[in-house]
Amino acid sequence: MAELKDVKGIGPKSLSLLNKIGINTIEDLVTHYPFRYDVLERDDLSKVGDGEKIVIDGKVESVPILMRFKAGLNKMNFRLVTHSGIVGVSIFNRAFLKNQLRVGSSVTVIGKLDKLKNVITASDIKMEALSNKVKIEPVYHCTSGLTNKNMSTYINMALLVYGRDIPDYIPSEYIEKYNFLNKKTSLNVIHNPSTSEKLKEVTIRLKYEELFEFMFKINYLKQINKKKNNGLDRVIDRDKLNELYKNIPFKLTNDQLKAVDEILNDLEAPHRMNRLLQGDVGSGKTVVAFIGMYANYLAGYQSALMAPTEILATQHYNNLVEFLKGTDVKVALLTGSTSKKDKTSIYKGLEDGSINMVIGTHALIQDEVVYNNLGLVITDEQHRFGVHQRANLQNKGLTPDVLYMSATPIPRTYALTIFGDMDVSTIKERPKGRQKIDTYVKKNSEIKDVLEIMYKELKKGHQMYVIAPLIEESENSDLTTVNELKEQMILAFKDLYKIDIVHGKMSSGAKDIIMDQFKNNKVQILISTTVVEVGVDVPNATTMVIFDADRFGLSTLHQLRGRVGRGTSKSQCILISDSDTERLKIMEKEDDGFVISEEDFKLRGHGDLFGTKQSGDMSFKIASIKNDYKILLQAKKDSKEYLLNKDTDNDELKIKLINSISLKES
Ligand code: ADP
Ligand code: MG
Repeated sequence: MAELKDVKGIGPKSLSLLNKIGINTIEDLVTHYPFRYDVLERDDLSKVGDGEKIVIDGKVESVPILMRFKAGLNKMNFRLVTHSGIVGVSIFNRAFLKNQLRVGSSVTVIGKLDKLKNVITASDIKMEALSNKVKIEPVYHCTSGLTNKNMSTYINMALLVYGRDIPDYIPSEYIEKYNFLNKKTSLNVIHNPSTSEKLKEVTIRLKYEELFEFMFKINYLKQINKKKNNGLDRVIDRDKLNELYKNIPFKLTNDQLKAVDEILNDLEAPHRMNRLLQGDVGSGKTVVAFIGMYANYLAGYQSALMAPTEILATQHYNNLVEFLKGTDVKVALLTGSTSKKDKTSIYKGLEDGSINMVIGTHALIQDEVVYNNLGLVITDEQHRFGVHQRANLQNKGLTPDVLYMSATPIPRTYALTIFGDMDVSTIKERPKGRQKIDTYVKKNSEIKDVLEIMYKELKKGHQMYVIAPLIEESENSDLTTVNELKEQMILAFKDLYKIDIVHGKMSSGAKDIIMDQFKNNKVQILISTTVVEVGVDVPNATTMVIFDADRFGLSTLHQLRGRVGRGTSKSQCILISDSDTERLKIMEKEDDGFVISEEDFKLRGHGDLFGTKQSGDMSFKIASIKNDYKILLQAKKDSKEYLLNKDTDNDELKIKLINSISLKES
């Protein structure tokens, strides 16, 4: 297939601009859907109020008068004869249009009407008259140097020449069944709609297509899981397992015990475990996972635990080593920053079986990692991993049992759709002695109060987290950065307390050093981006301060808040924001992660829940799981039917869909 640069009109400069916004192929280009449409319908001069928006066409009646100002600015005035009277038009900085605006030429003016002066201040002038019909204009996400008009031109040029080569992901039988338009026509309509009815029709079709493709892949992954359902036969020595319980410094809650039981049953049973362990942040999922890993070890298999960040992997590793004190289990930590030498020896140990358990980040799913007899795979905060990555890890070694841990409960209806074949263990009960974390929403102007609360806590010998969304200043952002905050905090607390920073762009070695200092109370105020979001455990930290809190989803805020309240002292969370306070106030009242996740889902859709930005699996171009739930259910049903229909096994499309799953693995 032709490449993006082959499209007429796209030169090297526009090519790199297109790449910049994620458009790399012709298919990307023609599926760069408008994010909204402007409806251009001819207004009547008499019916538009003063200062209101107006769209009107007519003929240029006077030669435009051009005025030039300092700094290259300019303004042009002319008179326009319209169907509803004569009106003055002025437009800024379009001197280049002067030659086209000849007397007698037909144009459409879009702008604001000043009724008193009878002048339209135009924001745009189009060199054609409006037709009698309503004109629907697509509006695209662009970037500086690339106008909406460019985008539209490139897309239409690509469609004209290559439109028929654009793949359609709906099998022909379903196109027939629903009387869908073909792909090329649908794309033509979505980019150049003639009526809103037509637009609606193709929108549904394109959404269905996107969801069909997505659900087909999910269904396929589920099917291979089922097919490989030759689960491992294990015998777990319960006495030995129980012996290790003495290493646990607390009593397991009933929910934890129940979850352990469910996992052990799965491990022993001949079927393959595919289980989601969900529990609110701080509910104690880790120890449950560790028990599972030890049981798996006692049965003679290797375990791998994958965490989303190095900090978390390291913490799990240290806890696991502690947990396994007095046993012969060999544990390794494998992350991106493990030295080459150590990596080589860990790879060797995993391959020959001398390492029994490994904890790590994405490094665990690199091609070089070969397991001797991997029996159990656990991913912590599973919503951060894509479907493909999960598949990748599972496929190593034997057909291991799989446990996903998540602190972000997925509302039931959605979970059923997306993780339909998973068993779920839920920890609702929190460990004893935990207190509710007091939560306050504060304005930036109330920073003094915030500092006072912080100071009070510091004087008690407690530590705290301060979260800012940005690492460094970017041009067009007035969000707080970690560096700014550090300066503010130093100003406020002088040399009384040690203040430091961690953020995602630091090397993990540097991060670890600071996290260690924080754990050992060498640092009292830890300023951070969201790297502490998941899992970090420092019981002496009692206060969480989050700047620009409106930037985060409620589930993320709940996760962040869960970093405190881990010891026995009263803890608090302060959300600072000048906007969106109504939503944030939900956090003041609610401390049940399940309820918060539902609220989040209602407010923001799936985005935050599944960590789509990280995984890319569920970022749809046109569909939305929340708004298009009905279409999703239909697509789910159809794609499953298509998958199971043996007659279509040789379909080019089916083969292509299946191949794209393994190709996309990272
Ligand atoms: P999460 O479910 O968020 O991953 P963790 O597993 O990190 O939670 O547990 C949070 C903290 O609670 C840890 O310090 C852990 O040791 C502690 N914890 C876990 N279970 C219990 C329990 N039953 N009683 C007391 N503390 C517990
Ligand atoms: Mg955890």
